[in-house]
Amino acid sequence: MTTTRFAPSPTGYLHVGNLRTALFNWLIAQKQGGTFILRLDDTDPERSKPEYAEAIKEDLTWLGLTWDRIEQQSTRLDRYTEAADKLRDSGRFYECFETPTELDLKRKKQLNMGKPPVYDRAALELTEAQKQAYRDEGRTGHWRFKLNHERIEWTDGILGDISIDAASVSDPVLIRGDGQVLYTLASVVDDTEMGITNVVRGSDHVTNTATQIQIIEALGGTLPGFAHHSLLTGPQGEALSKRLGTLALRDLRERGVEPMALLSHMARLGSADPIELRSSHAELIEGFDLTKFGSAPTKFDVEDLFPLTHRHLGTLPLEAVADDIAALGVPADQAERFWRVSRENITTRADLAGWWKLFSEGATPLVADEDREFIAQALTMLPEPPYSDSAWSEWTSAVKEATGRKGKGLFMPLRKAVTGQERGPDMADVMPLLQKKPTL
Ligand code: GLU
Repeated sequence: MTTTRFAPSPTGYLHVGNLRTALFNWLIAQKQGGTFILRLDDTDPERSKPEYAEAIKEDLTWLGLTWDRIEQQSTRLDRYTEAADKLRDSGRFYECFETPTELDLKRKKQLNMGKPPVYDRAALELTEAQKQAYRDEGRTGHWRFKLNHERIEWTDGILGDISIDAASVSDPVLIRGDGQVLYTLASVVDDTEMGITNVVRGSDHVTNTATQIQIIEALGGTLPGFAHHSLLTGPQGEALSKRLGTLALRDLRERGVEPMALLSHMARLGSADPIELRSSHAELIEGFDLTKFGSAPTKFDVEDLFPLTHRHLGTLPLEAVADDIAALGVPADQAERFWRVSRENITTRADLAGWWKLFSEGATPLVADEDREFIAQALTMLPEPPYSDSAWSEWTSAVKEATGRKGKGLFMPLRKAVTGQERGPDMADVMPLLQKKPTL
C-alpha cells in the first residue's frame, strides 16, 4: 500500500517550490490508490504559527490536493523522546556542549585548512566530569547521532544510484540544547511509524536522506523509497530561493492563476513530457511518471502560468464563472452572451470586469483624426440600445450605403470607436451587450 506525505513546516506560506513536492507526493498516492498524508512539521514552537498551518490547508484545498490524513509533529513529541532514548541506549547518541560560536570557529578553521567543515566529534572524548563541568557552567547539551563511517547508498527515484561517504557528513544534531527535537529525528520517526513508502522531496534534502537512512536502520525501521526532485530556478537559471517569497500560492491565486493551469504546469515541468493544459485531476494523475523527471535544475517562469490560465478559462462553461459574472452586475439574461464574448479575450477572471465596464459604461473611443467625421456621421445612424443580434449588420450596411466605405475601412474604425480596441470579440455579439449608445 503506497503512502506518501507532504511535510511542510508551518513557518510561512506555500510557494511554487513547495507545490512541486506536494503535487508529486499527491500524484503518486493517487496513481497507486494509496494514502496521502499532510504532515505539519511544527516542532519549532517559535517559528510555527497556526495561521500558516491554516494557510497551507487553504492553499492545498484551493488546488484540490486533498489529504487522507493530517498529522502534527507537535502532538507526537513523546514518540520522538522514545526514539531518542532508543538511540541513546544503543550508543548512537552523544551529548555535545559546543556553543554555536565555538562550532562556527571550528568550521572556519577547517575551511582555512582546506578541509570540509565536518564536526570533529570532540564531544565523544568528554569525560563525565567534563560534561558535568559544562552543565554547572549553565550549558545544556545538544545531542548528535553518531553516523557509522561507511558509504551510504540508495537508488533514488529520480537521481539514480547515490553513494555518500558518511565521513563527509557531520553527525546530525537531533535534539537541541533547549530540548527541541529537530526535523531529522522527528521526520524519521514519523516516516517509519506512519508507514511511508515513498519519500519525495527537493534535492536540498539529499544529505539528510543519507543520515536518515542510518537513523532509520538504527531504530529498526523499514526504509522507504527516496526520490529527490530538482530545485526550481528563475527563467534565466538564477536562484529562486530569494524570490520564492513572491511566488506564494496565495499570491498566484490573487493574480488570477487558475488551479488547473498551475497544476498542469507544475505536474510536468522538468519532465520529458510536454506541458499541456489538462482538464482534470484524473488527467494529471494518469500521465504522471516520476522517472521522467530530470535531475537538472528546473526553470520556472511565472509568466508561463497566464497563457495556460487563459486557455483554461476558454474551456469553462458559464456555470463555472456564473458567480463572478453575476457579481459584476451583468443581467442574468445577458450572462451567457457576455461569457461567450469575453472568454477568449481575457487572461484571468479579473479581466471580466474590464469587459463589463466597457459594455455597461462605454469605451474610450479610439478614433483617428481622419476618421472623426466618418464616425460622427455613423453614430447618427445608430439608434439607442437595446441592440438586437442583427444590429451590427444593419448599422454597418446603412453606414456603407451612406459613406461608400467598405471592408476594413468600414469595419475597423467602427470597431475601434465602439470598443476602444483594434481587436476583440465579434462585433455582432458585442452590440447586444452595449448598455449605452457609443459616443465620440
Ligand atoms: N519540513 C521539511 C521541509 O519542509 C520536510 C522535508 C521532508 O519532506 O522530509 O523541508
